[in-house]
Amino acid sequence: MPGGLLTINLGAISANWRALDAKTADTVETGAVVKADAYGLGVSPVGQALQKAGAKTFFVALASEGVALRQAIGPAARIFVFSGYMQGDEAAYAEFDLMPLLNSADQAMRFLADRQGKACGLQLDSGMNRLGLEADELSSIMARIPVLNPLLVISHLACADEPEHPQNAVQLAAFEEMTAALPGIRRSLSATGGILLGPDYHMDITRPGIGLYGGDPYIEAQPVVTLSAPVIQIRPVAVGESVGYGATWVATRPSVIATVAVGYADGLIRAMGPNASLYSGDVACPIAGRVSMDLITVDVTDLAETPASLDILNATQTVDVLAGAAGTIGYEILTSLGGRYKRKYLP
Ligand SMILES: *Cc1c(COP(=O)(O)O)cnc(C)c1O
Repeated sequence: MPGGLLTINLGAISANWRALDAKTADTVETGAVVKADAYGLGVSPVGQALQKAGAKTFFVALASEGVALRQAIGPAARIFVFSGYMQGDEAAYAEFDLMPLLNSADQAMRFLADRQGKACGLQLDSGMNRLGLEADELSSIMARIPVLNPLLVISHLACADEPEHPQNAVQLAAFEEMTAALPGIRRSLSATGGILLGPDYHMDITRPGIGLYGGDPYIEAQPVVTLSAPVIQIRPVAVGESVGYGATWVATRPSVIATVAVGYADGLIRAMGPNASLYSGDVACPIAGRVSMDLITVDVTDLAETPASLDILNATQTVDVLAGAAGTIGYEILTSLGGRYKRKYLP
């Protein structure tokens, strides 16, 4: 049976990159974060589109992702890896010209032992306590910094999607203080949320991810994904009959139920069941009963005509709206989109 159709608008991704680039001064470079297979949308087509839009510096989470990106976009782009110089990745760094964002003294020493003279970056912890060198660890390798010769020093904000959160200013101050000891090295602090915090946070290069793909907190983003799935079967359901596992949905009026060929194995999180709808054009059709692995049952009683397919993501039901129904965030919806969809890329 044909499954869902995921349509990815590369033009919208490029437009979002340009719009985020326009939010910073001309002297600020705009990078692009394409980790996790470009947030689930396909690192090859997305990386190529962003490169065409003007992106020259890319960020991934893992060296293996850097390899896939390098193969897609060729030798010119700079590719930084957030997880840094992990044991086992040495060959990937050497063969594919990747740059680790070194996040510990140990990584820095191993990098120097293997690859002295090759390009790298440093990652500092300015208060998120997730990844990066702390101030004292940075001091401990300070004598080696001239040999390491990092091209870039980064840190990451924990609360950038909450502009009023006091931790933003605290991390900015901590990053300023730590990097004062690293003069002449380009600095990067901001992902999508940080770009929206304003010029103090822009530094030399920004690292937008979710904003490129149409997600919060960049609410002006052009929508990037639409997802629709075919109706396999339609049935009348009488008052008192139930639908789906656990018989949790019971008809209170004579109903028409459409069974649609997508489920939680496709990333449609089971928890969203009772709160989410699928769409026929502009008409919301509530999910009836539980989401199954490969199927969803939908109440289409109010539609004038039998739909051939229903939409899961569209301009109205964005990744963030759907995420809200499942108690999660747009990032998780995007990166959960399964491998079974037919993917169509719009230029
Ligand atoms: C994921 C990530 C980004 C991109 O964040 P968005 O919120 O998606 O823009 C930037 N920097 C680091 C270190 C990250 O882990």
